[in-house]
Amino acid sequence: MSKRIPVIAANWKMYKTKDEALAFIFAVNEKVPARTEVESIICAPSILLNLLVKREGENLRIGAQNMHYLDEGAYTGENSPLQVKSAGAEYILIGHSERRSYYNETDETVNLKMVAAFKHELTPILCVGEVLSERESGATKAVLDQQLEKAFLNISAEQALNTIIAYEPVWAIGTGKTATPQMANETIKDVRAKVAALYGNEVADGIRILYGGSVKPDNIKVLLEESDIDGALIGGAALDPNNFLVFTEAA
Ligand code: PEP
Repeated sequence: MSKRIPVIAANWKMYKTKDEALAFIFAVNEKVPARTEVESIICAPSILLNLLVKREGENLRIGAQNMHYLDEGAYTGENSPLQVKSAGAEYILIGHSERRSYYNETDETVNLKMVAAFKHELTPILCVGEVLSERESGATKAVLDQQLEKAFLNISAEQALNTIIAYEPVWAIGTGKTATPQMANETIKDVRAKVAALYGNEVADGIRILYGGSVKPDNIKVLLEESDIDGALIGGAALDPNNFLVFTEAA
């Protein structure tokens, strides 16, 4: 049995109006498992954060999907770590592949956001993953090693231990293609080995590493049975409150 508390994190992406968000919260609030058993997180659009934080039940936690790395400034349309924190969010997704590919997120900005997250006591959910051509050419490990090395620059061992990593093969996000549980587990073992190389075994044994990429109610169990998969980051399927509860119960 893993000593690491499992994490189920929903990534709502750019979905849900205020009323839809409230309906979701009311449907799951009383039913999610105790926070000591599972960390159940909703990463919502920033405009909904305050509303959700006010309505979240004691076992639900709220995160943002992106933020700038500066505390303030003339950056129209952006949200700062201070604003995310003051809205009441506890978690922040950093480096999601959609941010990397559509909004020019780089390993350098990912690192600046990691540093900013810890400055403001937000827990980062750091997303890493390879694209299909990298998987097919055998470059997955090198790609992940590089993403991890850069993301963790200037991050202490204690902070690293408090980071949640989400391994998300880009070719599996929103495509219906899931990595096999064995493939996901082997890759997550490589991620853990890289964390061990950077910070030692104690951090590597304690850090939570999630799988993400077309997780559904019918594959969550087999994924979570694997030795090194500590939970899941789920997009499309977690928009449905009943599915979200299936995921948290499976964890
Ligand atoms: C995600 O958004 O991080 C994700 C894994 O999406 P999906 O579950 O829809 O593939």
